[in-house]
Amino acid sequence: VTRPVDLSCKAVVEMLTDYLEKRLPHEALVRLEQHLVWCVWCDDYLEQLKHTIAISGQLPGQQPSLETVEKMKAMFASWKGTK
Ligand SMILES: [Zn+2]
Repeated sequence: VTRPVDLSCKAVVEMLTDYLEKRLPHEALVRLEQHLVWCVWCDDYLEQLKHTIAISGQLPGQQPSLETVEKMKAMFASWKGTK
C-alpha cells in the first residue's frame, strides 16, 4: 500500500544533502525517492540544490566569483518566473 504522505517535505529537505552525498541508508533512500516522484516542490528543491552544488563545486574552498553569483541569481529568478 502506497502512502504518499509517508515523509513530510521538511523531513525530505533535511535528508537531501545526505542523499546527494550518497550517505542515506537504503530504506531512507527508497522512501525519499518515492516522495520525489509525486512531490513537485521537493523535486524542484533537489534540482536547485544540485545546481548550487554544481556551480559552487567548480570553485572548491573559494569564494564564488561575481560571475558565479550573478549566474545563480539569474537561475533562481528564472525558476521563480516559471511558477
Ligand atoms: Zn515534498
